[in-house]
Amino acid sequence: MSDRIPPLRELCFTRNGHRVPPGFAVSYVRAHGSEWLVAEEHWERLVAQVLRTKDVGRRASPGEAMRAAVTIASTLLSDPLLRRRCPYCPSQVRGGAHGREPAGAEQP
Ligand SMILES: [Zn+2]
Repeated sequence: MSDRIPPLRELCFTRNGHRVPPGFAVSYVRAHGSEWLVAEEHWERLVAQVLRTKDVGRRASPGEAMRAAVTIASTLLSDPLLRRRCPYCPSQVRGGAHGREPAGAEQP
């Protein structure tokens, strides 16, 4: 198994080589208004951040560290208390408008 971050698309399959909560990838993308690219970018950022933690970064092999990071990140994002929340989304709008840029440069 490689040490690259697995794309959400791969995590939709049951045999993806990672331990993720069932349905995680699809519900995470849904929480981003079904914007795959936005969800993917935020997912990769979170996994990279988990990888930088000491606990995970010191695993025996890069592949093992990646598997641990994927499990930790997906479990965090599936927590009922954190559901519909993503640490990288600019605004936390419940139920759909998730992931859009804040309205900072409005037209006159
Ligand atoms: Zn997000």
